[in-house]
Amino acid sequence: MLCRICKEAMEPTVVDFETNWRGYRATFKDLPVIKCVSCGHTLITPDAADLMSDLVDAKLAANQPVPEVLTVEEAAEFLKLSTQTVYNLQRAGQLPGAKVGSQIRFLRSALTDLLAGEAPPQAASLQQPNPDPKKIARPRRNTPRDGL
Ligand SMILES: [Zn+2]
Repeated sequence: MLCRICKEAMEPTVVDFETNWRGYRATFKDLPVIKCVSCGHTLITPDAADLMSDLVDAKLAANQPVPEVLTVEEAAEFLKLSTQTVYNLQRAGQLPGAKVGSQIRFLRSALTDLLAGEAPPQAASLQQPNPDPKKIARPRRNTPRDGL
């Protein structure tokens, strides 16, 4: 491959490459490039360019604020469960989700609390079987007025 500036030979090497990328200063150490032996003109290989792009995108994504309200898909991803399992658990009252229209939404903080074992889902109490009324012992009244 010849340099498009001076038409001299270009050779593969590595450089430390610093760039501004969407407002961030990024430094890449030992980046594989093709460099002109004569004028120093440097080409970044397509593979290296892709890698840089992926790294920057990942870094930018990591800086994004995480959504506080999760869809079933996001909750499944967060909990490392299948979406079907999330549906089933929510329906069974095991997950603290809310139905908004026809959609189920989850608060990230509620799922975090659940994982930490701090807050049982509110719906859980509603899902417990009702005790048989006949088996409920009536409280005994031992006050004097009972005899009247
Ligand atoms: Zn050159």
